[in-house]
Amino acid sequence: MQTLKSINPSTYELLGEVVVSTKEKVSQKVALAQQMRKEWRELGVAKRVEMLRKAFGEFLERKKELALLESREMGMPLSEALIDVDGTMDYANWYFDNAEKYLSPETTFENDTEIHQVFYEPIGVAAVIVPWNFPFANFVWGGLQSLVAGNTLVFKHSEECPLSGKFIEYVLNHHLPTGVFNEVYGNGEVGKLLVNDNINMIAFTGSTKTGKYLYETAGRKFIKAVMELGGSAPGIIFSDADLDQATSGVCEQRLLNAGQCCDGLKRLIVGEEVFDEVVKKVTKIFSSKKIGKADDKETQIGPLVAKRQLDLLLEQVKDAFVQGAKIETGGHSLEKKLGGAFFEPTVITGVTKDMRIWNEEVFGPVLPIVKFNTEEEAVALANGTAYGLGSYVFTKDKEKATRVSSALEAGMVSVNGVNYIMPFNPFGGYKNSGFGREHGKYGFAEVTQIKIVAKNK
Ligand code: NAD
Repeated sequence: MQTLKSINPSTYELLGEVVVSTKEKVSQKVALAQQMRKEWRELGVAKRVEMLRKAFGEFLERKKELALLESREMGMPLSEALIDVDGTMDYANWYFDNAEKYLSPETTFENDTEIHQVFYEPIGVAAVIVPWNFPFANFVWGGLQSLVAGNTLVFKHSEECPLSGKFIEYVLNHHLPTGVFNEVYGNGEVGKLLVNDNINMIAFTGSTKTGKYLYETAGRKFIKAVMELGGSAPGIIFSDADLDQATSGVCEQRLLNAGQCCDGLKRLIVGEEVFDEVVKKVTKIFSSKKIGKADDKETQIGPLVAKRQLDLLLEQVKDAFVQGAKIETGGHSLEKKLGGAFFEPTVITGVTKDMRIWNEEVFGPVLPIVKFNTEEEAVALANGTAYGLGSYVFTKDKEKATRVSSALEAGMVSVNGVNYIMPFNPFGGYKNSGFGREHGKYGFAEVTQIKIVAKNK
């Protein structure tokens, strides 16, 4: 029997072990989900929402337990994990409150003799595969609208957080009929078994590399795929911006969850006139952060999720250093000093376009900063990436903000720190950041198929 080890990245201690799902187990879960399709669909939206609300009542009651588990298993500071669970509950409640509105039949035409109506029908069994960076939110964002809409799920959390997967599976199965929500455990190999089994759609959140494989698989099977992939979000600070507001917004965006957010600000582009001042302010904030074990209430920056992520980040930073970049603050692993996968918050200038920290997605508390002269140059630098998820613009000039927002090749734009991450807004990317959207009416549309029924009265 093969097991997955859950390791606490703050200490490298073993938290627990979970049995890896075999091929037979994966097939059994998919078959069960197929069996339950009809019953779950026929319950209707209101009844499904009623059951799911009860499950989320239990998540809320056990919020501290869930936040502590997330914090120990993937290294999110406890203070952030508690906020994350609350924020994720807001998403669930929005889906529940608005499900009938967006999933009920819509009349497109009616006269004395005919009525034409659009129905939003479930697709069937959704294989939902997610990463580790927000274990509870990854489940809610990736799978909850699908459950509400009447799909049954076979779900796979990342191999980095199987205990969070167990917790979520346990609570859901307390409240839902057996076979509606099914969890499988393991790494990418188990994910492959799942998507090659008898499923009807793939909803994937994770790296672009895996997303490309899964899109090919969906293409071969000719089933729907929603892809929420990596990002390397640019932030542009124009010289007329409120620099205190901009630099504090930038640091928040870069350092949340130790820099391990898909749409987090990963490359900073600054007007030449204010470049030195911005570097100074950002460096001051980065070097003031309290680094420590994730479950310590005082901690502001926890460890990365695992040693392999720390090693990758070290390689990316080393590449910049060797090519002549300047480390303004940080730059070192704190693994030996603190005994876990810790890395210093790091600001880097003298960055060129061929450095890995500029070209690759950097999942850690590291911020490369470059300067620009003209608006066109700023936009070209921002768009000079294979990704297109989040983006951030700071300027007091409203016309410039509108022009630049339109020119950015990204699914989401924040102007002057206004947060686009809301349950009613679409979340998703352009280019290698994927396609399809989560949340709002857009998310419900992705997980349903649309049928028009035109009939006489
Ligand atoms: P990953 O692609 O390595 O793994 C994600 C999930 O896919 C895991 O559960 C993994 O076991 C599974 N997997 C890996 N290979 C597979 C295969 N061949 N077939 C089926 N499943 C497979 O990504 P990761 O390192 O866990 O997560 C980090 C990435 O996720 C980053 O790129 C980040 O930007 C991205 N992400 C995107 C969003 C978004 O909404 N766009 C949100 C969070 C994270």
